[in-house]
Amino acid sequence: MTNIAKNIATVRAQINEAAQNEQRNADQITLLAVSKTRSSDELRQACATGQKDFGENYLQEALDKIEQLQGEAICWHFIGPIQSNKTRAISENFDWVHSVDRLKIAQRLSAQRPAEMPSLNICLQVNISAEESKSGFTPETLLEALPEIVELPNITVRGLMAIPASSDDPQQQRQPFAQLRELQQKIQTQYPALKQLDTLSMGMSGDMAAAIAEGSTMVRIGTAIFGPRDYSNKKQ
Ligand SMILES: *Cc1c(COP(=O)(O)O)cnc(C)c1O
Repeated sequence: MTNIAKNIATVRAQINEAAQNEQRNADQITLLAVSKTRSSDELRQACATGQKDFGENYLQEALDKIEQLQGEAICWHFIGPIQSNKTRAISENFDWVHSVDRLKIAQRLSAQRPAEMPSLNICLQVNISAEESKSGFTPETLLEALPEIVELPNITVRGLMAIPASSDDPQQQRQPFAQLRELQQKIQTQYPALKQLDTLSMGMSGDMAAAIAEGSTMVRIGTAIFGPRDYSNKKQ
């Protein structure tokens, strides 16, 4: 087994354990392998273990890999910051976008999604720890934008995504994840027509168990699968 295969097995075992501790079914938790800065060959090693979902942050780097890995049955997720001039390529090449952080981006993704493709799955990114440096809706601006977002024809709102301030304390880690879950419940109550609101994209290598304890349905794991990242030759 390669290191990547071993690491994926370890992460999957950790997901199972965290789910069991909460009497949750691990089948309801998708492992998203975050593959930014990783080569197509490393992604292929992950695919060989049955890994299907991959998350990318940088558009050009992602487009190169999508091209090179056409033979693999990959579900591609865009999880990075989105400039509005990049929405067309994102809507044409990805299955999911987790980092929709303003109304304009949602509108452009919907307008630019090719008619022959299925509806684009989106998560709305929430700046749940209210950090100045982080992008995302606040809970208030999200509730303001939602009436327009839910009417957009070519995107499907699947849920919420957050990248909380990091903490080493498992109890502290749970708090923003609980807030995100409560916000999702509030939205579901206000918009019963959102039939596919089933995704809480939360939890990374350092806080996965806390996120699962608070109801995460998709954990975004990079370092624990591929090792520490080297950004020195990253393409934007
Ligand atoms: C890089 C990244 C991750 C993965 O982080 P790790 O700590 O390496 O697991 C998850 N989510 C987002 C949005 C990221 O940019």
